[in-house]
Amino acid sequence: MEVFRNIRGVSEWVQEQKAEGRSIGFVPTMGALHRAHLELVRRAGAENDAVVCSIFVNPIQFNNPEDLRKYPRTLDADLAKLSGTGCSAVFCPGEKEMYPEKENKHYNFGHLDKVMEGKYRRGHFNGVAIAVDRLFRIVRPHRAYFGEKDYQQLQVIKAMTHMEGHPVEIVPCPTIRENDGLAMSSRNIRLSPRQREEAPRIYNALLDAKKAISEGKATSIDQVRDDAISFINTSPELRVEYFEIVDPESLLPVKNTRDAAGAVGCIAVYAGDVRLIDNLPFN
Ligand code: AMP
Repeated sequence: MEVFRNIRGVSEWVQEQKAEGRSIGFVPTMGALHRAHLELVRRAGAENDAVVCSIFVNPIQFNNPEDLRKYPRTLDADLAKLSGTGCSAVFCPGEKEMYPEKENKHYNFGHLDKVMEGKYRRGHFNGVAIAVDRLFRIVRPHRAYFGEKDYQQLQVIKAMTHMEGHPVEIVPCPTIRENDGLAMSSRNIRLSPRQREEAPRIYNALLDAKKAISEGKATSIDQVRDDAISFINTSPELRVEYFEIVDPESLLPVKNTRDAAGAVGCIAVYAGDVRLIDNLPFN
């Protein structure tokens, strides 16, 4: 497995691979890798001749400096995990390499980046889009793999890819969960034992909401939302930031329970200062 810290090294390597007729699968990450990341790498390996994984904690997508400071960084362990998972090359640039100058680009994603995560994390998706656009220009992959765990991010990346005309197929991959249902996340290692015990309430609330909708038991969207929020907030360890039931593509809120059958429930919850997100398609 090759490890590149600069743009030139990885670009030249990719060029050589392509010259030899190999297809390139790409998995962008912020490191602190867990089983869900490795699942993306495996899938990329099954569908492409070579896999590039990037590890870069992207400062411009953090709206909260404390969150950026506390974000786990485990590069040596990450490289060990990747080399055992069939990754061909890792790109782990420093901040100066990615952003030699201050980045001023501003994307217009319409309401896609104004709701949910976009509302509570101002500028977050603009920062994500800038980083992924830059990575696509460097790696020029045939396919790029993203988790449905970050559902809104996936929609924003699809929009950015279209806007920039990147010739890359965006491959959505299902959310990977712990046995008790908690969605895997690099932030989970920051949970206290008590918070970790309570965190599966998030997925259980999503399952209950889905059940209420699919069994036609819900009288209104507000009722489904209120039930989910109060179930989670009953735990003193957890505090819901938002729970929305949205159209899977436009991400606009669904207004009545009939339309909710094909919708996605999206949620953000604080456990202390650790922010967890999750979602569940209701179909
Ligand atoms: P991150 O390192 O958190 O930026 O995530 C890198 C990629 O892994 C993104 O495409 C995420 O959506 C994906 N990912 C993270 N956690 C999960 C999960 N539990 N299931 C599926 N994909 C995930």
